[in-house]
Amino acid sequence: MPLDPALRPAELAVASQLPSDLPAPASDAQMEALVAELSSGAAAGLVLIRSGPELERLSRDFFSYSPVLTPLLQDRLAQLVVKASCSEQVRLVAGACARHGVPITLRGSGTGNYGQCVPLAGGVVLDLSGLNQVRQLDSLSGVLTAEAGCLLSDLEQQLAPYGRELRLTPSTRRSASLGGFIAGGSGGIGSVRWGFLRDPGHLLALEVVTVEPEPRLLQLDASASAPLNHAYGSNGILTAVTVATAAAVPWQQLVVDFSSWTAALAAIRSLPATALLLNGLCLLEAAVARQLPCPGGHGPDTCPAADGHRLLLLAAADALPVLEPLLAALGGRLVWQAPEQGSRGVPLRELCWNHTTLHMRAHDPGWTYLQMLLPQPEAPALDALKQRWGDDLLWHLEAVRQQGSQRLAALPLVRWRGRAALLELMEQARQLGAFLFNPHVLTVEDGGLGVIDTDQVAAKQAYDPAGLLNPGKLRGWTERPGASAPWPGSVA
Ligand SMILES: Cc1cc2nc3c(=O)[nH]c(=O)nc-3n(C[C@H](O)[C@H](O)[C@H](O)COP(=O)(O)OP(=O)(O)OC[C@H]3O[C@@H](n4cnc5c(N)ncnc54)[C@H](O)[C@@H]3O)c2cc1C
Repeated sequence: MPLDPALRPAELAVASQLPSDLPAPASDAQMEALVAELSSGAAAGLVLIRSGPELERLSRDFFSYSPVLTPLLQDRLAQLVVKASCSEQVRLVAGACARHGVPITLRGSGTGNYGQCVPLAGGVVLDLSGLNQVRQLDSLSGVLTAEAGCLLSDLEQQLAPYGRELRLTPSTRRSASLGGFIAGGSGGIGSVRWGFLRDPGHLLALEVVTVEPEPRLLQLDASASAPLNHAYGSNGILTAVTVATAAAVPWQQLVVDFSSWTAALAAIRSLPATALLLNGLCLLEAAVARQLPCPGGHGPDTCPAADGHRLLLLAAADALPVLEPLLAALGGRLVWQAPEQGSRGVPLRELCWNHTTLHMRAHDPGWTYLQMLLPQPEAPALDALKQRWGDDLLWHLEAVRQQGSQRLAALPLVRWRGRAALLELMEQARQLGAFLFNPHVLTVEDGGLGVIDTDQVAAKQAYDPAGLLNPGKLRGWTERPGASAPWPGSVA
């Protein structure tokens, strides 16, 4: 059924079709020539996968969270997967693809939620998980340079002996890569303290391979790196990333139950305004908390099942003497606490951010989700939305720092009732003052930034002039002034 255009102002569209200007898949002749080049000479060490379940797996991410994106993306496959393990191999692949006119989509661990690493136009998926070496850790400043495919959990292990930790990690810390987090993620654990990845000061430098017949290996400083931060790998191949780190803190996991939603909301609003050192602060409505696993595994150490709305905290040990009476005064019951280090079972950090959605969908795949920054005060918007949507909308809030201010983000669970209902919900949230980070769209701009970032487009012009990187994901590229007519052989 066609959508009512009145319900979908541009910034709230959900993807109804693939972009119309995608290049056609590479021809058999193009692919044969590419494979021949990548199988010989200096490229002989590359791993090439031309078909089969591994090629299918490496063409996907977690887009199934969106019933809007699933039908668009489920049949999109790479024509070839290439696994590289060093910058020089990446250069060989980039050069060969540029010479043969074959699109490239980059992949770290494939944990993105919106099909960011799904190849819309076939071509090559370049798997960078083999670039997994730490290049440098400055013991004085804690500045870390590591190859893009390093897993965040491996980096944490390597930082620990130096008393350092990553400032921000997604709840997928155990599986996500550094390059994928920079190119596709936004924040997560640590956002209550450190804000978001695009805030100046986190990303300090990049090593980048360009996509040209003779690719360049560039070293970009912080300001030159900014346009490649959260660009879905559409304007340069990150081979190494330099980030600031934080002094390591042995975080304590705390679970606090509230019988009153109003009291729980007051707690998540007031705790960040204290001097307590917090690294995670998440509030789950009772109907969500009841469905989630309890942290701590089985046995006597396990956290009891949720009895009411649930606040999850990661706090420094020196916060505990103040937190305990403070939480009680706020109407909460501290039902479990354990140090994060050495804790068994499900870690608390895998119950928040998009892991909440993961656990809810494991019970019932009829749930999908939204992401938004709530207006202040939050309660009127939360109440109005709840009143309209009832149990089809379950609240999951995260405390974050946004442009220097403490704010609440929401990742509500949304019962899928079709596209029109989703658009109506998003429009109501927007009218109530929420800023939406729409997870049901394909492009960088529609998903979060909201507007075209001309620096991102300029970086694509400079580092991927033929537009071969992740086609269809950077709307500013296709809409740039002077953009040529759709690609020859483009799909409608
Ligand atoms: C259960 C769950 C929880 C999540 N929680 C969070 C969260 O808390 N915070 C958050 O921000 N996200 C979250 N995500 C999304 C995702 O896990 C993160 O963004 C993660 O950091 C992506 O890393 P990845 O290695 O899997 O990247 P991929 O999925 O492999 O790639 C992500 C994007 O980056 C591009 N890319 C990958 N590597 C490179 C490279 N070397 N150079 C250039 N581009 C590259 C890809 O083309 C793609 O566009 C969650 C997802 C799931 C499924």
